[in-house]
Amino acid sequence: MLTPKLDPGTIEKIARAPFLMMVLDYDGTLTPIVKRPSLARLDSRMRAVLGTLAGMRNVRIAIVSGRALSGLERLVGVKRVDYVGNHGLERKIRGVHEIDPCAIRVRGFVLKFEHDLKKALKGIPGIFIENKVYSLSVHYRNVPAALVNKARRIFRKVWDDFSAQVYFHIRPGKKVWEVRPVQGCSDKGGAVRLLRYRVPREKRKRMMMVCVGDDKTDEDAFAALRRSDISIGVGGSVRHARFRLRSPEEVLGVLQRIVAIRKKELGSHV
Ligand SMILES: [Mg+2]
Repeated sequence: MLTPKLDPGTIEKIARAPFLMMVLDYDGTLTPIVKRPSLARLDSRMRAVLGTLAGMRNVRIAIVSGRALSGLERLVGVKRVDYVGNHGLERKIRGVHEIDPCAIRVRGFVLKFEHDLKKALKGIPGIFIENKVYSLSVHYRNVPAALVNKARRIFRKVWDDFSAQVYFHIRPGKKVWEVRPVQGCSDKGGAVRLLRYRVPREKRKRMMMVCVGDDKTDEDAFAALRRSDISIGVGGSVRHARFRLRSPEEVLGVLQRIVAIRKKELGSHV
């Protein structure tokens, strides 16, 4: 069954939530996918609307990404936003920085795996191994199509020989293999639960969570939502979302609409 497009009625419902928490992915959701992760800059209009929302009463904005926390914060650069990086392992919630206790123990193994991969994959042009301290991403977006299978075989072999494999798992994403710790808050579903229970009980009872993402990893977040919450898939890769939007540009339009309704109807102010 085709996922329905996010309709004006549902946008109204979101905008009128007594307490609204928006959990937003970064790449492919707030910015278009680009050739190198470092080039994914946030549009100034998007930055503005995120800042306005984050400053509104009874609204929280959380940006949850597979990126390392420091890079994510630098790219977004909006105050009062909660940041969750490394799929949940690193957080800055209400301004407080924390690292998942399980993540700290695997740092040495991430380094070892990076070292083995770099050696094995050095003949593959365009491959980009991103060490995120507590996890690792292997991007193959820029690898020539004819060499992707070869790269995959080499990656699998290094993985098969990895002595600390038991502490990690591989999650495929958009042209990327993500190597993440098995334990701790290491997927976006965990991140959603963590964010939910950081909200005081009284507010949590009337809270609506709205999750927006464009990738398979975002489906973990969608699966952790309650029935009254709302999931929105961006682009064509997400299968299990209640609603869909086509592009980050459409996401921007929806966020601007939410601001407009909330300002008008609820008198929220910055
Ligand atoms: Mg994404």
